[in-house]
Amino acid sequence: MLEIDADSPRQRSIKETLLLLLGGSMAIAVTLLACMRLLNKNWTLAAVDMGFVAIMLLLLLFVYVSRKTRTAGILMALGFIGAALMSTLLLGVSELFWVFPALMVAYFMLDTRQATILTAGFVGCFLAIVWDDVSATALTKICLTVVTTVLLANAFALTNRRQLEELRRMVHVDPLTGAGNRRAQNLKVDAVSAIFRRNSSPVSLLILDIDHFKQINDTYGHIVGDQILVDLSALLRGKTRATESVYRYGGEEFVVVAEHTALDAAANLAENLRRRIERARFTAGISLTVSIGVAQLQGREDREAWLGRADKALYRAKKGGRNQVIAAREMVPAAPLQMRAVRDSEEARVVPILARSM
Ligand code: GH3
Ligand code: MG
Ligand code: MG
Repeated sequence: MLEIDADSPRQRSIKETLLLLLGGSMAIAVTLLACMRLLNKNWTLAAVDMGFVAIMLLLLLFVYVSRKTRTAGILMALGFIGAALMSTLLLGVSELFWVFPALMVAYFMLDTRQATILTAGFVGCFLAIVWDDVSATALTKICLTVVTTVLLANAFALTNRRQLEELRRMVHVDPLTGAGNRRAQNLKVDAVSAIFRRNSSPVSLLILDIDHFKQINDTYGHIVGDQILVDLSALLRGKTRATESVYRYGGEEFVVVAEHTALDAAANLAENLRRRIERARFTAGISLTVSIGVAQLQGREDREAWLGRADKALYRAKKGGRNQVIAAREMVPAAPLQMRAVRDSEEARVVPILARSM
């Protein structure tokens, strides 16, 4: 089952809560059943029940402590299916009613494909067990009700999946330009920062700002301005690789996060994009230029510091006459106190060198 990123990591997900509730209530109910079986000296059934209770308690403990639901969900589905089959085997077709919650648990805990395969096997085993004990009419009714339940469970799972995919898209994509939005950008920046801290693989980001965009809006109107943002986003996404992701930072600014890319390579990428944009003709034949600031992630700097250095480089590109790329080449010292001593003048203009070399 798909789950959307939880805003609050402390809050338990529905799946987690359900596992705890199911595990707890099943453990209590089946313990009572086991006591009744013990009183009736029905040792086999009591042992089966106690085994089920032990599995539920272990699952409960595992989910409560680890908060991991994937493995626990699979075990819970298998536990229900196993218990349904075992009780049918021992007590006969009267245990039919366990089939339905077992199907529901499978569809809730597993993804649709896994659940369909598991329930097909489960229903096959169930029918094989009861085949000789029930009339043809009863068998037909069992098949019809089980197939209806499976079909409905599939339909619910599919609807849920489609809605979640749409929701994910809405949460992470800028509606105007189709580029990733600020939330997706933050998630990406944090993710690549975590990877960088683990394996030191270089990662850089570009902040790109359209030059004199206000004039374009003033001259051609906001609708044309919007279309330019759409076209520019498409151009950026079309000219970047799978390891380079494009986000709308805000207004007429875009961010490109380039993984496995050191500063020089990122500055080359930026220069390449700058040239392509300069040569392109946008809606209504409009041409435009962009300024780009580039920074490679260093040391233990956080999201704000990294974006801040790229933004400062962008500011220099604007001040330096626009339509150019500036790479932030200063080294960030490890100690936060020393950071204040870093001088802006250590940033280097890359455009003239790159322009000649490309
Ligand atoms: P500079 O070269 O210094 O970046 O100049 P600029 O005119 O591009 O920058 P400024 O910050 O003065 O103006 C940005 C403009 O971008 C102003 C605003 O109307 C426009 N803008 C921001 N978001 C949108 C949008 O979604 N659609 C349109 N059409 N315009 C937008
Ligand atoms: Mg701007
Ligand atoms: Mg601008």
